[in-house]
Amino acid sequence: MSLQTAAYAAQSETAPLAPWSLSRREPGAEDVLIEILYCGVCHTDIHFSRNEWGNAQYPMVPGHEIVGRVVRVGANVERWKVGDAVGIGCFVDSCRQCGPCRAGEEQYCEAGSTFTYNAPDKHMGGMTFGGYSTQITVDQHYLVRIPEGLPLDAAAPLLCAGITTFSPLRHWGVKEGTRVGVVGLGGLGHMAVKFARSMGAHVTVLSHSPGKEADAKRLGADAFVATHDPEVFERHAGQVDFILDTVSAPHDLNAYLGLLALDGNLVLVGLPDPTPVSAFPLILQRRSMSGSLIGGIRETQEMLDYCATKGITCDIEVIPMDKINEAYERMMRSDVRYRFVIDMASLK
Ligand code: NAP
Ligand code: ZN
Ligand code: ZN
Repeated sequence: MSLQTAAYAAQSETAPLAPWSLSRREPGAEDVLIEILYCGVCHTDIHFSRNEWGNAQYPMVPGHEIVGRVVRVGANVERWKVGDAVGIGCFVDSCRQCGPCRAGEEQYCEAGSTFTYNAPDKHMGGMTFGGYSTQITVDQHYLVRIPEGLPLDAAAPLLCAGITTFSPLRHWGVKEGTRVGVVGLGGLGHMAVKFARSMGAHVTVLSHSPGKEADAKRLGADAFVATHDPEVFERHAGQVDFILDTVSAPHDLNAYLGLLALDGNLVLVGLPDPTPVSAFPLILQRRSMSGSLIGGIRETQEMLDYCATKGITCDIEVIPMDKINEAYERMMRSDVRYRFVIDMASLK
């Protein structure tokens, strides 16, 4: 038995997303069945559905910023009950035994965590399907609770854009007075600004869209640097301690490394490959370059609770499912203020 579920899928790397129907598993003893209410639109959905990383399997149902309500629970499920508001992020399973899994960093599972979509599905065979759909069955250990007080639509992007920016800011100890540069003011970037500001950092937005300056300041940035003028890289050389690079398209990382002070660190969360790096900007000021992948279940819950306490949510534009292809085109033009969220009621 399986549960027929309405969805939107890409059938090839060049096809626009279109209506499709998929099968979810009947909830087992450890599972929770969730009615999906909202799903955020991450740039990763575009990279994947257009096969920009070369590993896409079709049909593909993207979506890993999922918020919904529990509608059924399996016999062994005690933490969740019908009606609970829950979130599902970028992965739905992991080995649970390796060092990273035991440390609550399942995203770095040594066996590879099971991504919410485009990953082998242990239960159903084939591939996993994501949140551009009306329901999903998930193991109870891979859910987070949406705290009371967070609007469900504006909380959805926290499941990826939120945790992906919160985790590295925490991991590298950004605090009062740290000079933080956020490169790219999109879905991830706008959350990075809010979080860094809430941690007391001095925040500079570096953007190739000069028209975003007022928004950057409204979101909490202290300064804005328009990067279309190459001269700004000389003027601001050595002025920040920590850069979070959220850009989705190829750009000259060496220029951004030059903005770091002695011992500064540039953390890549954006995923445009390849991104060639020269040794000189690293060596000259003992700079580092790092990467960071989303965050574990425990830290995702901590981030959601932090958002509820601090009143932080995402700036969203809610769209019906059939506007997804238009939303992708707007994201490719950097015309998103600052996350599209699909209202799944539009698919029922
Ligand atoms: P998004 O909303 O589309 O924002 C990306 C931003 O990058 C744009 O708004 C734009 O900001 C900037 N940008 C785009 N094209 C550019 C270009 N040609 N030159 C310079 N800047 C450009 O994307 P997102 O959802 O935030 O995702 C950003 C990246 O992070 C994607 O590659 C995504 O796959 C990746 N990601 C990684 C993780 C992880 O775990 N590491 C998690 C989620 C997403 P400005 O207009 O301000 O310049
Ligand atoms: Zn994402
Ligand atoms: Zn593991």
